Amino acid sequence: MPAFDELIREVHECTRCTLSRKRTNAVPGEGSLDADIMFVGEAPGYYEDRDGRPFVGRAGQLLDELLASIGLKREEVYIANLLKCRPPNNRDPLPGEIEACRPYLDRQIEMIAPRIVVMLGRFAFLRFFPGETIGKARGKPRKWNDMIAYPVYHPAAALRNSALRTTLEDDFRNLQVLLDRGAQVSEKPDDELTEQLSFF
Ligand code: URA
Repeated sequence: MPAFDELIREVHECTRCTLSRKRTNAVPGEGSLDADIMFVGEAPGYYEDRDGRPFVGRAGQLLDELLASIGLKREEVYIANLLKCRPPNNRDPLPGEIEACRPYLDRQIEMIAPRIVVMLGRFAFLRFFPGETIGKARGKPRKWNDMIAYPVYHPAAALRNSALRTTLEDDFRNLQVLLDRGAQVSEKPDDELTEQLSFF
């Protein structure tokens, strides 16, 4: 069985943490295995758990709109989550759950090897850069392994707060520039590049 199919099968059968007991469906992720951009969200919610697909609820509709605004369809990117199973009542992911699920996301990133990993929201961002704050880091691309890490606000947060939505829309515009230009970025969160990007 090809390695990626094997990974998806493992996620469907996973019992590494207690979230597996309550799930309707595990939600491994979906999209192009050749994607240049990979999005990492937090965890499945009600609709994702029901359908076994990431970002199919209201936050997902906004993500689709944001993708369309930069000329992308969800089939052209890869969308995954930190956790593959829904936390009860959509509560925050627990550290033990994030650790239990860590190998799956690591393997997805390794196999897809995107140019850009977009972290959607605080939990996805902190999983990669513990101890930092999303408010400071968002919209600033930085080199991470052989990729570019690009943290942005979570679409669900943008649905609740119109100022965050405007910021998220701006950050997506810059994502397009980042993708088109293949910008050189350093390991430090790139303020300068962020300023350059905002000219486009
Ligand atoms: N929010 C997430 O972080 N992931 C989903 O799949 C849906 C909503």
